[in-house]
Parts: sequence; C-alpha cells; structure tokens
Amino acid sequence: MPNLYKITLLGDGGVGKSAITNQFLNNQFLAHYDPTIEESYRRQMEIDGKICMLDILDTAGQEEYKSMRERYIQGGQGFLLVFSVTSPLTLQSLKEIHELISQVKDTPNPPVVLVGNKADLTDQRLVSKEEGDKMAESFSAPYFETSAKTNVNIQECFFELVRVIQKKIRVDAK
Ligand code: GDP
Ligand code: MG
Repeated sequence: MPNLYKITLLGDGGVGKSAITNQFLNNQFLAHYDPTIEESYRRQMEIDGKICMLDILDTAGQEEYKSMRERYIQGGQGFLLVFSVTSPLTLQSLKEIHELISQVKDTPNPPVVLVGNKADLTDQRLVSKEEGDKMAESFSAPYFETSAKTNVNIQECFFELVRVIQKKIRVDAK
C-alpha cells in the first residue's frame, strides 16, 4: 500500500504511550492506567496535503523481554521514543532502546522522534528541556515536549515522525 507508515511507540511503562495514542486518535485523555494495553490501530489522515495510512502499535510492558522488543522493532518503520519529563530514568532507558533499534534496523540513524511527555506536570518536572535536546541530538532526531493530558504537541510528534520516515525512504532509494 502506498503511503502506509508503520509507527511503533516504545518507552518505559507509565510514561504515557497509551494516553498519547488515545489523545491522537480519539481526542480523549485516558486518566486511568492500564499497563497491559497493547493495541494496534489503523487510521487514514491527511499529512502535508497527502492522504496517508498510519499503522500505530502501542506497546505494553513486556519490553523487558528482548525478543518481544525485537519483534516490535522489526515490524515498525518509525518509532516514537517516549519518556516522562517527571522521570530521568525513563529518559535513560531510551538509550538502550535506541541502540536496539539501530542494531535490528542495521543503521546508526533509524527514523525516530523523541517525546518528553507529561510536560503539564511542571511542579514534578525532573528532566530539563536541555537534557531532552541533548538526547535527541545524540539520536539525530527531532524532540517534542508533549502533554497527552492537555493535548500539546501530540499530533505534531506523529506528523513529524511520518516526515522523518518519508525522508529515510527517499534517502534509501538513492
Ligand atoms: P503507558 O504505560 O506508557 O502506556 O502509560 P499510560 O498512557 O497508561 O499513562 C500512565 C499514567 O500517566 C496514566 O495514569 C495517565 O493518565 C498518565 N498520563 C499519561 N500522559 C500524561 C500527561 O501528559 N500528563 C499527565 N499529567 N498524566 C499523563
Ligand atoms: Mg500503555
């Protein structure tokens, strides 16, 4: 299918992957936490004037099993790497995930967008904008601070990932 983009959300449990997915697809905030949700969704959208089909995989907590993660990664074309700005550990976890994506996809710069979620929790913030920027730079990736709760930068991070995938496809075709 032309213009099909396979997007996978990865990151520690509780960072907001399901809330981000739900806000993007249904314009609703999921306040309760179900760590077991693992779902794939397919949705048609217009992005930069082009009709695109998005396959979105919202992964659950089994990512500690490496083989599971590898399977997610094999099936994905682009990755939203999500952490919470309230938890420095969740940012650190993404280093390892990024390394695994690079290995599985056999490229130093796989198509990823870094997402620092829960930006609305200003009094609980423990990761600065600069720390996020630095990690994004090490991934050669765009960085967005988001809030699934207040719907800030949610559509933007998905659309930007589609652009990153499109760019990768063009480069690979050369
Ligand atoms: P997942 O395990 O990564 O899928 O995390 P969830 O999407 O289930 O979110 C975990 C918890 O954080 C839930 O209670 C959500 O309501 C909450 N949450 C997710 N995103 C945000 C956000 O942007 N702001 C705030 N304040 N809470 C959030
Ligand atoms: Mg979830």
